[in-house]
Amino acid sequence: MQNILNNLPKLAAEKHKENKTFFTKLKKKPPKQLDYVMQELHEEEFQRTDCLQCANCCKTTGPLFTDKDIARISKHFRLKPQQFVEQFLRVDEDNDYVLQSVPCTFLGEDNYCSIYEVRPKACREFPHTDRKKFQQISNLTLKNVAICPAAYNIVKALKKRMSK
Ligand code: SF4
Ligand code: SF4
Repeated sequence: MQNILNNLPKLAAEKHKENKTFFTKLKKKPPKQLDYVMQELHEEEFQRTDCLQCANCCKTTGPLFTDKDIARISKHFRLKPQQFVEQFLRVDEDNDYVLQSVPCTFLGEDNYCSIYEVRPKACREFPHTDRKKFQQISNLTLKNVAICPAAYNIVKALKKRMSK
C-alpha cells in the first residue's frame, strides 16, 4: 500500500488534464444512470480496498467539522463545544472548522479512528464517490484522486465505463 500511496500524487498529476476534460464533458451531459453506476463502482472498489491499510485521508487531509459534528464529538468527550473547538480545531481560509494539524489527532497507530462512531460526516462520506450527482463535485474529486487510491481507481473505472 505504501508504494501505491507514494506513487499516487505523480499518477494523479499525469492524469489531471485527461480527468479534467472528462469531468467537463460529464458535467455538460451527465448520463441518466450515473448515480447507479457510481454506486456500483464505489461498492466494487471498496470490496477490494482495505482503508485500515491506508488511512491516507486521515494522515494527509482532514475533514470539515460541521456544527452538528462538533456538538456530537464534544458530547462524546464530555466537553463543551467551545472547549472542543479550542483544543482541536482551527478556522481555515474558507471560514470552516478544520483540524489544527494532520495526521488527524484521532487516528491511532493501527490506523483505527478513535472516534469512529461519532466521526465527522465528511469522514463517513469520503471520498464521496457514491454520492448522488457525482458530476457536481468534480473539482473536489480531481483533488481526492491524488490522496485516495480508491477514488483514483473509481475515476479510472468510470472513464472506462463511459467510453463503452
Ligand atoms: S478512503 Fe481512500 S484515502 Fe481514505 S483510507 Fe480509504 S482508500 Fe485510503
Ligand atoms: S476523525 Fe477519524 S476518520 Fe476522520 S480524519 Fe480523524 S481519524 Fe480519520
